[in-house]
Order: sequence, then structure tokens, then C-alpha cells
Amino acid sequence: MSKLSLGALKNIAMLMAKSWVESVGFIIGSEELGVVKGYAVYRADNIRSSPVEFEAKPWHTVQAHVVADKYNLKVVGIIHTHPSCPPAPSILDIEGMVRWPLIWVIACESSIAAYILKDNIIREVEIID
Ligand code: ZN
Repeated sequence: MSKLSLGALKNIAMLMAKSWVESVGFIIGSEELGVVKGYAVYRADNIRSSPVEFEAKPWHTVQAHVVADKYNLKVVGIIHTHPSCPPAPSILDIEGMVRWPLIWVIACESSIAAYILKDNIIREVEIID
């Protein structure tokens, strides 16, 4: 898994990044031939309402998975925003990546990046259209 196709979801990520608190959502999609494809973002409330951390509302986490199942897709990633750039994982993000070993997309107002934790190493995932 080395590439993430986000298409128009990049625009959604950039809109999410305009908030003064961290915004969060789940990327619903599929994986084919080593390319993870994101088709939709299921937005979740950040119950921490914080500019430096997030915690998705548990019910929204469940609903994102229900929606993915309904369309025979998966939750392939977590997207969240940082009110301050660059979009690099924080210590809290790295702890989260251990618990949720999916692609983590981080967006700030001017850029977007994706990461995955594999073999205890954070690797950047190339974002393609
Ligand atoms: Zn973060």
C-alpha cells in the first residue's frame, strides 16, 4: 500500500481544515492493486472540541462503519485537521495510529499529507488524484 487516491475528497479535507478546532472524519473506500481509494468522508464530531487533539464521537465511528458495510466498502482511513500547519503527525496522532492502523490523512489550511504506521515506522503515503 503506497498510494492513496483521494480525488475530490482533497477539497473536503481543505474545507474541514478551515476550523479553529481539529475536525475529524472517516474515509470510506476500497483497496485495489496497492492503491487505497477514498470515495467519501463520513464526518464525525470532535468531542474534545480542541485545536490540538481530536476524539471522534463514538456513535459517528459506528455509523461510518455501518455506512461502509452498506455499500460493501471499508473505512480505509481517518482524516483530521490541524489548525496550524504543517500537517505532520503529533505525538497524540502517533498513539492513535498504533490503535487505529489505517491511513491517517492530516490536512491544514495550505496542505495535506497521509501517513501509515507500519513495522513501528511512520511512512508517508503518496496522495494521488
Ligand atoms: Zn493531529
